[in-house]
Amino acid sequence: MRYIGCHLSSSAGFAAMGRTALSIGANTFQFFTRNPRGSKAKAIDPADVAAFLALAMEAGLGAILAHAPYTINPCSKDERTREFARLTLADDLRRMEYLPGNLYNFHPGSHVGQGIETGVTQISETLNAILSPEQTTTVLLETMAGKGTEVGSHFEELREILDRVTLSDHLMGVCLDTCHVFDAGYDIVNDLDGVLTEFDRVIGLNRLKAVHMNDSIFGLSSHKDRHAKIGEGKIGTEAFRRIINHPVLRRLPFYLETPNELPGYKAEIELLRAMVEES
Ligand code: FE
Ligand code: FE
Ligand code: ZN
Repeated sequence: MRYIGCHLSSSAGFAAMGRTALSIGANTFQFFTRNPRGSKAKAIDPADVAAFLALAMEAGLGAILAHAPYTINPCSKDERTREFARLTLADDLRRMEYLPGNLYNFHPGSHVGQGIETGVTQISETLNAILSPEQTTTVLLETMAGKGTEVGSHFEELREILDRVTLSDHLMGVCLDTCHVFDAGYDIVNDLDGVLTEFDRVIGLNRLKAVHMNDSIFGLSSHKDRHAKIGEGKIGTEAFRRIINHPVLRRLPFYLETPNELPGYKAEIELLRAMVEES
């Protein structure tokens, strides 16, 4: 049994995403909370939420992953940009409580020349301003490729953020993106065990809550962040077979973010399901 899904368009609502996921062999999915460029989110429709929750229960869907718009930057040099990130994250988390107990993932940010230390400080301050002890959503920091001045391409940077967030033990985790960690220099192709041992040493495997399944157009340490379809990049099919069957990963939800439309995702989910070895 694996939870495998892909990124879906959220324009038709939660129940529609659930039906779409089931129609392509998925038992979970990821979606953007709003336009990826960060505009205003659509109002939550209680009837849609109720229909989704019923469907998720009946079909046994796994935790779904909401993805923040990727343009928000909690460690911008500009205070107004940081404030916009704070308001957007807070609004998303408020909305997530309509679907209790799921996952919310965001890119930590780009320090734009301020340096990692300032970036980490500003990201943690943002989280400390918006997390509340009552929330049921787990907030995930995504591992990043290290493009430009991105924070989060070294496990140590994610550890630092978690350490500085007061409620992190209870409310926060990490989403490992296969393309991003490979681009960042973690060799999940030749040494998956070594990378996971390093993750455990620095962050702790108890923090690992989700996996983004993407092949990478560019090679190890390329810092490019260009996703490829599974088996069509430098990571390759065999590495994904090891990932989906790894004892510390197999119980996590896997989300594809490959360059595909629905038929391509359906084929890729079939490919991943065919790799699953039950023990
Ligand atoms: Fe992402
Ligand atoms: Fe990702
Ligand atoms: Zn990416």
